Amino acid sequence: MLKSKALEKRKQEVLIVGGGLAGLVSALLLVQEGHVVTVVEKKIYPFHRVCGEYVSNEVLDFLKRNGMYPEGLELPNIDTFEFSDTRGSSVRLPLDLGGFGISRYVLDEWLYRLACQRGVNFLTGTTVTGLQFVAKEELFQVELSDFQVLQVPYVLGAFGKRSKLDQVLERPFFSKRSPYIGVKYHVQAEGSSNTVALHNFQGGYCGFNAIEDGKFNLCYLGSRDQLRAYGSIPEMEQAVLWKNPLLKRIFQESDFLWEKPEVITEINFERKLPVENHLLLLGDAAGLITPLCGNGMAMAMHSALLVTEALREGKTRQEVEQHYSKRWNALFYQRLGVGRAIQGLFGSGRGSVIARNLIAHVPFVARTLLKNTHGKPF
Ligand SMILES: Cc1cc2nc3c(=O)[nH]c(=O)nc-3n(C[C@H](O)[C@H](O)[C@H](O)COP(=O)(O)OP(=O)(O)OC[C@H]3O[C@@H](n4cnc5c(N)ncnc54)[C@H](O)[C@@H]3O)c2cc1C
Repeated sequence: MLKSKALEKRKQEVLIVGGGLAGLVSALLLVQEGHVVTVVEKKIYPFHRVCGEYVSNEVLDFLKRNGMYPEGLELPNIDTFEFSDTRGSSVRLPLDLGGFGISRYVLDEWLYRLACQRGVNFLTGTTVTGLQFVAKEELFQVELSDFQVLQVPYVLGAFGKRSKLDQVLERPFFSKRSPYIGVKYHVQAEGSSNTVALHNFQGGYCGFNAIEDGKFNLCYLGSRDQLRAYGSIPEMEQAVLWKNPLLKRIFQESDFLWEKPEVITEINFERKLPVENHLLLLGDAAGLITPLCGNGMAMAMHSALLVTEALREGKTRQEVEQHYSKRWNALFYQRLGVGRAIQGLFGSGRGSVIARNLIAHVPFVARTLLKNTHGKPF
């Protein structure tokens, strides 16, 4: 009796903070399981985000199996990796698993509409401003920007790599400054639609790959100090990124589709935890993998599956938390560490030359490194 009462309560209501990939995919999975699901997203769909928009094929079966793959769109199939060092010497490597390109503008909007059709409730244009677990009542108290206060038994934190909510929750990484910025453009360009390229420059690296409608994503992780030193993004790009002749060509020969790029600062790769104060954290909110791995979106979706399984299999809150934490650590802990470790080979002249030589002359090692930053299809 007690057990079924607990189960009923768990099936009552789940609130998800943040409607990026982790939030949208977990909402879709949980509503499928019979939960009443509400997503609170501070922005209004559709919108652009800083992201390389290369999705690893490890999610392909999962998306298709759950009717979440945007059929009907012609998406570029990516099976080759190109790497250039800061001087523009490049090398190519076939990708074992590969991936596809799609903009977040299209993918997130598509998943949002699907979730609406399948019965997920959305509060868009609404921010979660406060969150606390009230132990006595076994409920979360959730404060919203429109002054509503909600009480729900389960809350998933899918609010991305850095949110004001992290500060409210006093998560330790929040106070650490990050030296990175992220900049993204959509462009029309000449390029191989089957290739995801990583072009290095002093202080960072820039991804280039096809997305839908013949467009390309041009997205880089750069340095906050360099931006400060050069005063503006265009000046920094010309002074720093263009030193790599391959990047200079892309910048000079592409048609830029927006007036201004999307820009973010404070991109932090610090270690986080998947469960904090009874909050189940997903996607980047639990840990951001370095973008060079091209795997953050797959991890966000996979963590959504893990949390759904944990809610299904755990009979008590404690069991749900333990189940999720254990599976999350088994799948992602090492991957995040490898991503952090190899980031050192990128964005520096010497490191990028070593990495290029490694890919060119010891492709087996390069492949093993790639494998260690990726998961298996699920
Ligand atoms: C430069 C760069 C390039 C990248 N390139 C790639 C790539 O090519 N391939 C790849 O797989 N991954 C890439 N990634 C990683 C990928 O973008 C992330 O891992 C992925 O977006 C994580 O999804 P998420 O749902 O956890 O977070 P997000 O997509 O960031 O979603 C979080 C959502 O929460 C909302 N939110 C935040 N706070 C609140 C609040 N208090 N209340 C309500 N809503 C809130 C935000 O508005 C946002 O919509 C890249 C990352 C960077 C920085």
